[in-house]
Amino acid sequence: MFKSARFKLTAWYLLIIILISIFFSAAIYFRVSQELEIGFRRAEIRQRAGELGIPLPGRWPIGGEDLDPRLQNEGPRFFLAEDLEAAKRHVAFNLLIIDIAILVISAGAGYFLAGKTLRPIETALEEQKRFVADASHELRTPLTSLKTSLEVALRDKKMSAMQAKKLLQSNLEDADNLKSLTDKLLSLARYQSNGKSRHFEKHNLAAIIQTAYDKILPLAKKKGVEIELHVEDTLIEADQTSLEEMVLIFLDNGVKYTVKGGKIKLTTRTGGGYVSMEIEDTGVGIAEKDIPYIFERFYRADSSRVKEETSGFGLGLALAKKIIEIHKGVVSVSSVLGKGTTFTIKLPLKH
Ligand code: ADP
Repeated sequence: MFKSARFKLTAWYLLIIILISIFFSAAIYFRVSQELEIGFRRAEIRQRAGELGIPLPGRWPIGGEDLDPRLQNEGPRFFLAEDLEAAKRHVAFNLLIIDIAILVISAGAGYFLAGKTLRPIETALEEQKRFVADASHELRTPLTSLKTSLEVALRDKKMSAMQAKKLLQSNLEDADNLKSLTDKLLSLARYQSNGKSRHFEKHNLAAIIQTAYDKILPLAKKKGVEIELHVEDTLIEADQTSLEEMVLIFLDNGVKYTVKGGKIKLTTRTGGGYVSMEIEDTGVGIAEKDIPYIFERFYRADSSRVKEETSGFGLGLALAKKIIEIHKGVVSVSSVLGKGTTFTIKLPLKH
């Protein structure tokens, strides 16, 4: 598809260049022909004047009205007319050679430029295709299991009301999970397509962190994980909703991958036009081989011993990274398996 688009685009480039070069060649040809005719006429008049012994003024108009009547309306004689035609043919031939050279060079350059123009579109389309394929794959598995469990229940004639209620409860949980997956996918798609349409305004980062903390606190308490905040008031130009979502993702992961009695510490430091946010946990840690991939969509590290028990789709960190990117920030991670993980996010205070 992109190969044919590349050829088509090259053809369009060529068509435009050919039209322009034909137009200019014609203009040059007519102008040069005119000049040649004038030059030859002057040469003719000068020659006739010499033959007739008529003195010529230093400069004389080509119309020749002021000249001796014998020199007026003097046109090139046969041999001069032939030279004139030969000179015009030379001009036309040279213009044709130049046009062919332009055509060949612009065909190559056009093909190269068409490739360069289409490459980012091709990459974006490939990325989108992969996203749709990954998303459909992830949605298919829970939907199939939901469908199967409902079919089995429908066929089971001896199912008690209690069992039916239990099944409905579990189906509801599956549906909730699916909803959370689709919400995350939608969010990711939105960040992917229009990071620029966010509302960047001045906000206090400490307030954003506090809101995220309040949201995660019940879950942390339930799990027996302590969260400690060491946050200073910092004004940052940011999109409040997405920044809050990002903090929530890191805190949520911290709680998810830290066992009872563990601790999460969130610290911010401001300086040099940047704020750096450190989220440190005493959780299960991430194996070195998994670290390069954890920010990829749908990647869930095998090493995480609690993987089977923790819910998640491997979208959180991909989403967080997109949010950091639209804020022109960077994220890094260091982790020791079995000891804990530290994520460091560095964001510019202004855009
Ligand atoms: P998930 O929904 O699986 O949590 P994420 O994209 O948020 O997806 O994280 C990707 C993977 O990175 C997780 O599956 C987990 O293996 C690892 N991970 C992320 N945060 C932590 C953390 N704080 N401690 C240990 N492992 C983590």
